[in-house]
Amino acid sequence: MGNHKTEKLQPGLYFVATPIGSARDITLRALDILASADVIAAEDTRSMKRLLEIHGVLLGDRPVLSYHDHSGEKTRAKLVAHIAAGRSVAYASEAGTPLIADPGYHLSRAVAEAGHLVTSAPGPSAIITALTLAGLPTDAFFFAGFLPNARNARRKAMQAVAAVPGTLVFYESPKRVGAMLADAAEVYGPERSGAVARELTKKFEEVRRGSLTDLVSSIQEAPPKGEIVVLIERAPVKEASPDEIEAALREALKTLSVRDASAEVAEAFGGHKRNIYQIALQLKKDQE
Ligand code: SAM
Repeated sequence: MGNHKTEKLQPGLYFVATPIGSARDITLRALDILASADVIAAEDTRSMKRLLEIHGVLLGDRPVLSYHDHSGEKTRAKLVAHIAAGRSVAYASEAGTPLIADPGYHLSRAVAEAGHLVTSAPGPSAIITALTLAGLPTDAFFFAGFLPNARNARRKAMQAVAAVPGTLVFYESPKRVGAMLADAAEVYGPERSGAVARELTKKFEEVRRGSLTDLVSSIQEAPPKGEIVVLIERAPVKEASPDEIEAALREALKTLSVRDASAEVAEAFGGHKRNIYQIALQLKKDQE
């Protein structure tokens, strides 16, 4: 207990990621920073004090200030003034990584604009944890945050990201997840794969995987409780018509070799490489 490295930190703002469930999911460096910072600021001062207590980080006479982006200018100015006076400020949101569907953005900007150090002790976030478990591609993803509550606005927001070429990640409440998935099945198609990840790193951690239709039925049969991330597979690459492929090849052959033109078009349309190469070859012959 209390066995953390304490040192005089360089003046600046230290964003600290905290657990999203299991209390021991916090890095040693995060604890060192919490043990060393001159000032601690938190979205929720009570959960911060509990976290410090669990890990035996002694608070001493250091203040724990409440800060939320919407709590306004005044606290922000106070924190910037602490840093300007040569102090280090550690900031954590209630859970996970600050700024990720959590406060911190305005503070980050204010401190950077005043010319001070802004740095981070990275750690858990429900986005990455859910992506790790969902069984969906992770090479590209788009975090869409919380969707609007009202149905029309929610469907509009879903449509706005329908063409994103990556896995879609949403934060959702257990009350709305059924309606959200029903809308998703209509907007993205019932066969699209998805996953519902809940209570990650906690006792009742669970990941349901399947088509959006399967997930809608699963939620109806056993409504989930707790904290939830919904993930949806990217839109399938649109199958191009032979005319579209030919037109694209003609265009590409103006500047590229048969091999390069067919590779480019196959990549763009996701078509069968050898077939496209044969078409390109024929087009080239016709041109000669
Ligand atoms: N800053 C946090 C992060 O880095 O993930 C997110 C904070 S946001 C206010 C809270 C939402 O994140 C929850 O409503 C839920 O959608 C998601 N979330 C947080 N912890 C989670 C967990 N343990 N399991 C599943 N989802 C979680």
